[in-house]
Amino acid sequence: KVRVRFAPSPTGPLHIGGVRTALYNYLFARQHGGDMILRIEDTDSTRFVPGAEDYINEALAWLGIGIDEGVRKGGKYGPYKQSERRDIYREHVKMLLDNDKAYIAFDTPAELEAKRAEIPNFQYDASTRMSMRNSLTLPKEEVDRLIADGEKYVVRFKVEPGRDVEVNDLLRGKVTINSSILDDKVLYKSADDLPTYHLANIVDDHLMEITHVIRGEEWLPSAPLHVLLYEAFGWSDTAPSFVHLPLLLKPDGKGKLSKRDGDRLGFPVFPLEWHPEGGEVSSGYRESGYLPEAVVNFLALLGWNPGDDSEIMSMDQLIEKFDLAHCSRSGARFDYEKGRWFNHEYLQQLPDDQLAQLFKPVLRDNGIDPDNFSDDYIARACGLVKGRIYFVRDLWDQAKFFFKEPDSYNPKDIKKRWSEDTPRIMGELIETLRGIDDFSCASAEPIVLDWIASKGYHLGNVMNAFRLAVVGECKGPHMFDITELLGKDETIRRINLAVE
Ligand code: GLU
Repeated sequence: KVRVRFAPSPTGPLHIGGVRTALYNYLFARQHGGDMILRIEDTDSTRFVPGAEDYINEALAWLGIGIDEGVRKGGKYGPYKQSERRDIYREHVKMLLDNDKAYIAFDTPAELEAKRAEIPNFQYDASTRMSMRNSLTLPKEEVDRLIADGEKYVVRFKVEPGRDVEVNDLLRGKVTINSSILDDKVLYKSADDLPTYHLANIVDDHLMEITHVIRGEEWLPSAPLHVLLYEAFGWSDTAPSFVHLPLLLKPDGKGKLSKRDGDRLGFPVFPLEWHPEGGEVSSGYRESGYLPEAVVNFLALLGWNPGDDSEIMSMDQLIEKFDLAHCSRSGARFDYEKGRWFNHEYLQQLPDDQLAQLFKPVLRDNGIDPDNFSDDYIARACGLVKGRIYFVRDLWDQAKFFFKEPDSYNPKDIKKRWSEDTPRIMGELIETLRGIDDFSCASAEPIVLDWIASKGYHLGNVMNAFRLAVVGECKGPHMFDITELLGKDETIRRINLAVE
């Protein structure tokens, strides 16, 4: 059975690249009827950020990325938070020590610093370890005494030099590197009685029976070490397959996408707003007015495409079409305009009454009590203007005249559309409108147009002045759709206001 995991470290908000990793894991799991696990990798206590774990849970829930096992959900492979698995790691560290696959090192930061100053490009490995203060060079009694005295130590992985290590990446094929370039990675620190990422990650992926490790390209350099760790534990036969996803690149394609790009160019790089304690707020997709379905669709196509022209795909369609082996190997350029386009498309698909519900808070923010209007009225207003919006908040700009009379008239339009004659003609228009019983578009439009023709007035001039009076500027949906919704009294009231 396919089992995948998303394993973020709670060191801050979930970056949009991390969300894509979670999404690809989820799509792959669902496609194979497998399990999606959420594991919190919080072994680096120095980088722990309060609130980050809740943020991760909330963000995944908002996006509809379901979790089968994890910190909140529980499951039979738990606990799913690494800081609660200390006993397990301790036991596994001991296994490596007992089998001579790892050793204890006492070198202090100052000693390591001195070595680095003495040896250019110093690396703690087979070429240097025999000159360091560790259990390979000190007598056993000395090691035991130091530990008993409470001396701080780390456990290092004993990398055997000169070997070709093969990483099989489903996307990239076989990647071979020589073990001599690897250092003896720290696997455990006695100071906080916690393992490092590498050890905890491998032990957990094994014990949680993970079949596929799908993660960002930045972890590719660690993969050979991970392969060696599986081997050292004797778990090579059941080691998971690896997939390292392409990086997300800046919009101009030059370099990795960062939070700063978002701040600088004005787009969110986090799913939800992030409020660090005492720090600066960073904007999120949710708060910027994105629909989660649009964000999911947009992200799915950053690094993968279905091989045909389809672009708008629901989560279910993505699950059906997604193909891990056809993800791109090169970085995916982050095209924010495309993200906006997706949101526009998804807003068009929303039924008008749902759009109306989303619009209500925006109305309130703009001093309009939506309870003064029927749900049907708000929905129809939304329906008339939604083709012009990218975000729900844009509805205000496009539809505000349905909720209050213009508080000013566009000066440019006045200059162009309002002449000395206009008040008289508007007076006649009011008379004509008064005579119309059925104010629907279908009925009112021909009556008004006939009147304009019979008087020999210029159609554009009259209609533009009419629009300016009712809307406040010369833009918006079809004029007689507007008047149908506003109704006769309100339409006439506005023309009167404008004439005064
Ligand atoms: N905790 C790692 C991270 O924050 C997980 C990497 C992995 O998936 O192996 O990205």
